[in-house]
Amino acid sequence: MSARRGALQLAQNASKAAGHIRPNRAGPMRPALLNPLFAPVTGLTGVGPKQDKLFRYLLDRDDTPRLADLLLHLPVSVIDRRSRPKIRDAQPGTVVTLEVTVDRHRPPPPGRSRAPYLVYASDETGDVILTFFRAKPEFVEKLLPVGAKRYVSGTGQLYDGTLQIVHPDRVVDEEGFAKLPKIDPVYPLTEGLAIGSLRRAVAQALTRLPALPEWISPEVLRRCSFPAFAEALQRVHIPHEPTDILPDGPFWSRLAYDELLAGQLALALVRAQLRRPAGTRNAGDGRLRHKIIDALPYALTASQQAAAAAIAEDLQQPVRMLRLLQGDVGSGKTVVALLAAAAVAEAGKQAALMAPTEILARQHIKTIAPLAERAGMQVAILTGREKGKERRDLLARLEAGEIDFLVGTHALIQDDVTYNSLALAVVDEQHRFGVRERLALTSKGDAVDVLVLSATPIPRTLVLTYFGDMDVSELREKPAGRQPIDTRALSDTRLPEVIDGIGRAIAAGKRVYWICPLVEESENVKLTDAEQRYESLRQRFGDQQVGLVHGRMKGADKDRVMAQFAGGEISVLVATTVVEVGVDVPEASIMVIENAERFGLAQLHQLRGRIGRGSEASTCLLLYKEPLGEMSAARLRVIRETADGFRIAEEDLKLRGEGDVLGTRQSGLPGYRIARSEVHGQLITQARDEALRILEDNPKLEGPSGEALRCLLYLYERDEAIPLLGAG
Ligand code: ADP
Ligand code: MG
Repeated sequence: MSARRGALQLAQNASKAAGHIRPNRAGPMRPALLNPLFAPVTGLTGVGPKQDKLFRYLLDRDDTPRLADLLLHLPVSVIDRRSRPKIRDAQPGTVVTLEVTVDRHRPPPPGRSRAPYLVYASDETGDVILTFFRAKPEFVEKLLPVGAKRYVSGTGQLYDGTLQIVHPDRVVDEEGFAKLPKIDPVYPLTEGLAIGSLRRAVAQALTRLPALPEWISPEVLRRCSFPAFAEALQRVHIPHEPTDILPDGPFWSRLAYDELLAGQLALALVRAQLRRPAGTRNAGDGRLRHKIIDALPYALTASQQAAAAAIAEDLQQPVRMLRLLQGDVGSGKTVVALLAAAAVAEAGKQAALMAPTEILARQHIKTIAPLAERAGMQVAILTGREKGKERRDLLARLEAGEIDFLVGTHALIQDDVTYNSLALAVVDEQHRFGVRERLALTSKGDAVDVLVLSATPIPRTLVLTYFGDMDVSELREKPAGRQPIDTRALSDTRLPEVIDGIGRAIAAGKRVYWICPLVEESENVKLTDAEQRYESLRQRFGDQQVGLVHGRMKGADKDRVMAQFAGGEISVLVATTVVEVGVDVPEASIMVIENAERFGLAQLHQLRGRIGRGSEASTCLLLYKEPLGEMSAARLRVIRETADGFRIAEEDLKLRGEGDVLGTRQSGLPGYRIARSEVHGQLITQARDEALRILEDNPKLEGPSGEALRCLLYLYERDEAIPLLGAG
């Protein structure tokens, strides 16, 4: 599934899981006037079955794209033919338009048809080579006759000191040039699809654009000075000025707002349906929670208390909870999750916590089990490791309602896992889960409340576009008694000194994490960096002192080593990023990170969060390989300067772009193809407010303005929410 369709799908799963949403009618409800835009692109002249595949790929579709998809594929830049440099002045790497005379042809030598066909041309300042691969000689001869004057545009490259254009985008004569648009859009392309074919397809699609009603309210149109939809589309595809295609310009912004409004409206529609069956409340009288709080060896921080109270309040509401609990590593999210589960158990229902890795799941249960036990709450763990009879017994108890709180991994959402009365799904580090898994858990119960735990502060704009008005609790304070971490960056040429220092530290009874980057698994690499470092440290400090954990180890082996480290049997734990999140050994006070320049900022911060958890002062050494790139240097600087996860996340966003923050690794907003948060951040809140206003004024999207908004929802593929309208 593409990310774009993912966001709503996610909300949809949530609403389906509610179990009380029935589309009122079957069949297409799409307004007929949109039909021309929903015709397949293969109906365009020049787009045949062969192009179908290319267009699917380009537009990220599982099936043949429609004209609407094509029209919403916006240019990235333009070719401006108004200025025509001389060959001498042409900048390699840019698109240039040159006026040249064709001098001679050099077809591939006989028998070497794979060699390129070269055409030499020139102006009074120099030469240019036009290169064609696998071209028919007759085609090139006709296109570029020797002695003729031609206008050629394409991306110039230097090849052996001579300017070269491989497969020019345009080759025209004087007359053709006069007819050519002086500004041509340049689109993201896919291998095999020529820019010319794409431009022709877009131009045809534009001519089929029907007259559509305006869906943006007059107030917003006025306030934002937006052009009409059709005008916006026309101008980004047929720009009059290069600035017409800029994302922050009026045309692109209008389309971005449309997309955001459609997204927000759909989320608001789904949200409005997330009501629980009348009379259901998922929090009890507080008796278990009191016992847990009494059993805690520490006092909850003010923000933990506030978060727990907000959650308890949500659980009592007639609307389902969708709440994000953000807190830096070590801020104490687990105990807040436990209190939420306890509230649910008090009401006689079940809760589940799903973590992305086994280590994390076990870490949670380690914190949770003793506290739950004191309160008389039944907890259990289910991962891939529980098998056979053990697993069968556990599942039977779960189904019988004998387990109050089940902690685990993906194993929690397997088909044969049946809950007696699942009422709360806690998802830890949920951006690591695929869209499908995220809410698969919620479909295991009725009107399940959702609590998402995240150590990566998700920027507000992303929360908004992803979840609509999801509620957020933040754990901003660190538990009392934590010491700041002294963080230093050193070149790895100083490794011997570092190893000596570690030797002194372990002699003084300290515990040390030694982190090595993960290497791509490959047949040729016998030992990973971590394995090599483990060997060398073991030789230096002795078997009894050093342990190793990495992702390829079996769960039980990992746990054994982690337990040895936690128990102080070994002093140095060499690890890959498996220790990144959740692992809790308060006695560890030193961390060495090798090849720190290869880690992302958020990851470094997460890793470092494994130390500084006890009362002892901690040190983090970032070893980097020289030369250090600008970006890596900037990352290491940020991590040295601050320990504030929220600031680090902001810097990370600036340095990397935000696809990465959610782990989606794509530019722009996940689920959106036109809107971008760095440019359209303002519009996101406006669209959210507008969506809420619309649903207040016209909850069933009736009348002409409702019809226009339905068009919008279909156009931007947020129409899955439309059947909800009749469900009342
Ligand atoms: P997170 O999941 O947010 O990274 P954890 O929930 O794993 O953090 O908590 C980190 C450590 O802090 C755990 O050992 C936990 O017992 C401890 N802890 C949690 N809350 C407090 C508190 N209010 N005061 C002291 N220690 C706390
Ligand atoms: Mg945690």
